[in-house]
Amino acid sequence: MLDLTLIPSSNATLPAAPFRARHLIDGRWLDSSDAAVTERVSPSHGVVVSRAAKGGKPEAEAAIAAARRAFDDGRWSQLSAKERAAVLLKVADLIEANVERMALLETLESGKPITQARGEVSGAADLWRYAASLARTLQGDSHNALGADILAVVLKEPIGVVSIITPWNFPFWILSQKLPFALAAGCTCVVKPSELTPSTTVILGELLVEAGLPAGTVNIVLGLGQPVGATLASDRHVDMVTFTGSTAVGKGIAAAASGTLKKVALELGGKNPQVIFPDADLESAADAVVFGVYFNVGQCCNSGSRIIVHADIAEAFTARVVELSRQVAFGDPLDPATQVGAIVSPEHGAKIDAYVAAARNAGATVALGGQPLTIPGLAAQFYQPTVVTNVTPDMPIAREEVFGPVLTVLTFRTLEEALTLVNDADYGLSAGVWSENVHTCLSFARGAQAGTVWTNTWMDGFPEVTFGGVKQSGLGREIGRYGLDEFTEIKSLVMRIGRTRTPWVRPR
Ligand code: NAD
Repeated sequence: MLDLTLIPSSNATLPAAPFRARHLIDGRWLDSSDAAVTERVSPSHGVVVSRAAKGGKPEAEAAIAAARRAFDDGRWSQLSAKERAAVLLKVADLIEANVERMALLETLESGKPITQARGEVSGAADLWRYAASLARTLQGDSHNALGADILAVVLKEPIGVVSIITPWNFPFWILSQKLPFALAAGCTCVVKPSELTPSTTVILGELLVEAGLPAGTVNIVLGLGQPVGATLASDRHVDMVTFTGSTAVGKGIAAAASGTLKKVALELGGKNPQVIFPDADLESAADAVVFGVYFNVGQCCNSGSRIIVHADIAEAFTARVVELSRQVAFGDPLDPATQVGAIVSPEHGAKIDAYVAAARNAGATVALGGQPLTIPGLAAQFYQPTVVTNVTPDMPIAREEVFGPVLTVLTFRTLEEALTLVNDADYGLSAGVWSENVHTCLSFARGAQAGTVWTNTWMDGFPEVTFGGVKQSGLGREIGRYGLDEFTEIKSLVMRIGRTRTPWVRPR
């Protein structure tokens, strides 16, 4: 029997009936033409949380056509930035007024703790506010040193119709990393949430309508990746597709988009290392490692799923991580005391378990956990906090995204060796270093192949600070100033002043 901190079912009140989710197309709430639906069963409580329209190609095409019309007639794209910002600010207020309703559905659909769902939704309101402030900064360049008779300006224009495809792990946050920025730029959108977590996207649709967004500016199509997501990625009326999800699906989206050479932005997986030097504040580092690997049950693109510890301290540091892991509260996501909730699906739980079993068979040591977890009163899927040592860099558990509460431990002796381990990866989303020596931190930061580097912290993020990955972790950037630029197209305008142009055709 493992000595862990478990939170049993608190018998919290579940919603009386499943949330009914419909498509939002051209300002109208619609069921699918064939009346098909999907049901989401809560991974923590086993009840049906939502019943969502299951769209097909006709719904996807109708939504794209509505977004195209809305873009082309300028009902949103030609408003002033001030007018667009006013709507985004209203949406932020409405999100804040609906935090409880959205957090409950997000918790029940995803299995994440209610306190984290509340934080995700209210934090997302700030992304909407930040995007509103950025809207009014949209500007290009001017060139007035090209000669007395020439003036050129470089304009930033909205890119057009944007498809937004999102995953299940942070459904509302990830949508809010994209949608308000696309709207701030003047784009119109078609959104497809994950079939596992449709509800908060649909509630957002209600709030957009309430805030006065013109019909057709944001359309929502519910359903599976095939055919809905695939249509959004390939249709010739779409100008850009922005996707967050797995690297495998992301590659398929890039291939589907290549048929029309539309712009593609991808936020994909990670295998994010934290490197711990002996001179670090080791207590703070151990706490951050535990946070990094168990937050959202490790179902996090930024999961700090591999640590690389200096050999001199590896044994003691790992022992401290194991000790802290036992104190993290796993259990009923509806209980505010819970820090780690349920695994999103039985299939995903089996995948996590298979990685651990393969590592064990290959000679690794499971220092903690390594099994599914039973929570009293909840008949659903949980997984034990798991720490795996004696791992070699070639093992799949050290290289691939496990997406579960599973930490692997590697060791190093020199900064160069640590950086080689960090960079010997297909992914490059984020990386971290723990040391009191600023030279060590800066050398690490410059040498690590990652979109974000944290020094003496982990997963601190701000709307102002751009986020994205290198290598197979993605293409393009989100949030921050560059997050707005992603949704713009550059147009150069060259103007001649006066009749100074020399004729090309010579008179005969
Ligand atoms: P997924 O790739 O399975 O699905 C993501 C979305 O794509 C869903 O809406 C799904 O319906 C859709 N989809 C599936 N097949 C499709 C297809 N053929 N064409 C178009 N759309 C399709 O990912 P997931 O399991 O929902 O999420 C987990 C993954 O997301 C992890 O790999 C994680 O690292 C990644 N992720 C990355 C970030 C980031 O910012 N880098 C953030 C969160 C999650």
